[in-house]
Amino acid sequence: MNDFSGNNRLALMGGKKSIETPFTRYNPIGPEEVEAARQVVESGVLSQFIGAWDPDFLGGPRVKEFERKSEAYFGVKHAITVNSWTSGLIAAVGALDIEPGDEIIVSPFTMCASATAILHWNAIPVFADIEPNTFCLCPKSVEANITSQTKAIMAVDIFGQSADMKPLMDIAERYNLKVIADTAQAPGALYHGKHAGTVSHIGGYSLNYHKHIHTGEGGILVTNDDKLADRLRLIRNHAEAVVEGMGEQNLANMIGYNFRLGEIECAIGASQLDKLDNLVKGRQQVARRLDEGLAGLEGLTTPKVRDGCTHVYYVYPMVLDVVRLGVSRQRIVEALTAEGVTGLAEGYVNVHRLPMYQKKIAYGSKGFPWTSDICKREVDYSKGICPVAEELHDATFLGFAMCLHEMGDAETDLVISAFQKVWANMDALK
Ligand SMILES: *Cc1c(COP(=O)(O)O)cnc(C)c1O
Repeated sequence: MNDFSGNNRLALMGGKKSIETPFTRYNPIGPEEVEAARQVVESGVLSQFIGAWDPDFLGGPRVKEFERKSEAYFGVKHAITVNSWTSGLIAAVGALDIEPGDEIIVSPFTMCASATAILHWNAIPVFADIEPNTFCLCPKSVEANITSQTKAIMAVDIFGQSADMKPLMDIAERYNLKVIADTAQAPGALYHGKHAGTVSHIGGYSLNYHKHIHTGEGGILVTNDDKLADRLRLIRNHAEAVVEGMGEQNLANMIGYNFRLGEIECAIGASQLDKLDNLVKGRQQVARRLDEGLAGLEGLTTPKVRDGCTHVYYVYPMVLDVVRLGVSRQRIVEALTAEGVTGLAEGYVNVHRLPMYQKKIAYGSKGFPWTSDICKREVDYSKGICPVAEELHDATFLGFAMCLHEMGDAETDLVISAFQKVWANMDALK
């Protein structure tokens, strides 16, 4: 049979796929976690928290062990486990003494929970734009969005590298603001020698199953501030029932939840933490190979890592010059997907454009908190407020979710060959 099509015809046009066998799902769980979980199950003590001022207010032995181990690993004074990082973000905002109607500046290029945590305390999310090459909050845009109502900044260490915390902390100091770092996607990343998430007043990590290390669901809050740590522990565990016994005088936002993480999860988490360095090294090796393999492709920008910092690649973030390529992102993704590449993200979230913000409907149906007296001004969520984030979302951002697959050199080379093939056939996509 003739093979005039050659190996180079795009799979989209009937050619042979670059990747014929799907990659296996990412799985950092091994015999160590099985053994750790088995021991807890056999002990019969699956949780030991008590929601009262009691020696067990801080949980059982595995919770404490995992927290002390996290403090040592991340180099912080306090690590506080929670049952998800969404819970962690809610606790973090509450711990700051936020008043209803206060404004918190947040990135729009993030998972929705970063901003929802603000609304949970009836505070108002204000979206500042991001840097075009790191996708993290742009300090200039943050400063331009500060009003007399602004009380905090939530920086998001998106895709695996820290936001530029030095200028953000300088702004916070000048305007007397607190800073929360949402480091869900960047455990193990370093910002000028310090762990991402620890260069803020409160930070922390997600332990959801697609993050670098996981316990199924879970999260870790970190802070160096004793007072904030107490408030985080209170909100985690029924604050209102505990403040009296504890002698806590500041009752602001002492509305508690059950955000407690169990003993099984913490036992697994302690084993996972032992693996984080190697998991991060593996991601960085894959990213370096992708950097080299994709370097020559016209109109494609590979990730930029801030000088003196490291990236841990939850997502491998790329930008397309679609004007120069003369082909839409959608068409390129169609072609790559046909080649067998999975985990491609066309754009990322623009939180301000979600229906809740567009229609300003959150609590109830009448527009609370935006339409109520607590909201001191008209906050703008219209398209156009964050042009960099919007352009990336609408047209140019292309993510490869490294978090989804087990990837070694062989898998990485297959992804590179798929990209090279699509780029060699770009004219056929026009
Ligand atoms: C995953 C994630 C969260 C939420 O974490 P969960 O543990 O899933 O609740 C918040 N912010 C960002 C940026 C995330 O990636």
